[in-house]
Amino acid sequence: MTTTSPAPATLPAVTCAPWCLDGNGHADVPFPEDQVCRGDTVEIELTHRPLVQVDEETWTRETVRLYLLRHPGALRTSVEMYRGELGETVSLTVDEAEALGRALLDAVQQTGAGLGA
Ligand SMILES: [Zn+2]
Repeated sequence: MTTTSPAPATLPAVTCAPWCLDGNGHADVPFPEDQVCRGDTVEIELTHRPLVQVDEETWTRETVRLYLLRHPGALRTSVEMYRGELGETVSLTVDEAEALGRALLDAVQQTGAGLGA
């Protein structure tokens, strides 16, 4: 006697954001709230901060990291930004992230360094 096992149960795929690393609709997760689109993580090393120990003999530079995030059904994408492995995450709307980016560029330009200097 042969039995056929049922196909694995999956959720209906969601439409991923164009920048989603998964890109396949996250059908393989058990809960709809886990169908989250996440973009590439960008890391910026903090060159003047003390090094941080990541294991017994390995030290590395601390970083600020950010990535795009969109929860299922959400009408907004956010920019999630955090410092280090345990740092508190700051969740910015796209407009807030743009304002922060412009403010950072303005600050850099006031120093005479950076782009075009
Ligand atoms: Zn996705």
